[in-house]
Amino acid sequence: MGARGSGAPETAELRAFRIPMRTRFRGQTAREGLLLRGPAGWGEFSPFPEYGPAECARWRACAEEAAFTGWPAPLRDRIPVNAIVPAVGPEQARAMVRRARCGTVKVKVAERGQAFADDLARVEAVRDALGAAGRIRVDANGAWDVDEAVARITGLDRRFGLEYAEQPCATLDELARVRRRVEVPIAADESIRRAEDPLKVRAAEAADIAVVKVQPLGGVAAALRVVEACGLPAVVSSAVETSVGLAAGVALAAALPDLPYACGLGTLSLLEGDVVAEPLVPVDGTLPVRRPEADPGALSRYEIESPAWVRRLKEAR
Ligand SMILES: [Mg+2]
Repeated sequence: MGARGSGAPETAELRAFRIPMRTRFRGQTAREGLLLRGPAGWGEFSPFPEYGPAECARWRACAEEAAFTGWPAPLRDRIPVNAIVPAVGPEQARAMVRRARCGTVKVKVAERGQAFADDLARVEAVRDALGAAGRIRVDANGAWDVDEAVARITGLDRRFGLEYAEQPCATLDELARVRRRVEVPIAADESIRRAEDPLKVRAAEAADIAVVKVQPLGGVAAALRVVEACGLPAVVSSAVETSVGLAAGVALAAALPDLPYACGLGTLSLLEGDVVAEPLVPVDGTLPVRRPEADPGALSRYEIESPAWVRRLKEAR
């Protein structure tokens, strides 16, 4: 549907979507959002359900940048991406790594209800399937306390070798304490949700790497400025967007002066479908730097009534 009026979003074509997820994510079974088409192309506005208008303002800025302004010029034409192994058993982990054909794998650890023995078995299976040359990063989503994190990161690194450990603990103070006691680099993810956060992470000496996402940081140009100000190497990750939203993350990864790590942008496989004809799926561990447009045929399978999402966009300030 199209909406008329004054101001940027009102001049855009607006289409809401709902795509089922292959596995539950953040307690959700589907990913919903709004696509905007403006003179510069399509943008995606897909804040999570619990986010209020203030939080959503940055997500809106990202969608409007895509639709009305466009992105900085790319410095590379392919983006290395990591595969993801959720908190599954070792056999499934092995199969996922073989199927993904990525040189870098992110393994979820510290899952609620599981023991450290489960993490060990999973990471061991990933190392076995990946071979000695592959890189393994673990993500605890803030679940460990400081002593646990130190013991587990050290133990996993000694046995299997770790590229880095992502968000081992919940708070900046804990991250900083872990970082002083382990040799494995520490990445901050949940600690970086708004533009001022990466600067706090750096000031607290809490991490070696910043995980950055374009929608929560307010767009590609804003995220570039944040990364520059923060002075840490960045790993661009998705918020589990469609290919329209992923393209903005790809644009950020392509525009960063340095890109020393594989990015977390190979997440389309978490969704059952997509809104473009040629989805942004990795081939041999990399994504091409390109910008797919929403496709009427693909979109028609997942389009939903848009008024609630248009209201959410307008209230996002
Ligand atoms: Mg993470």
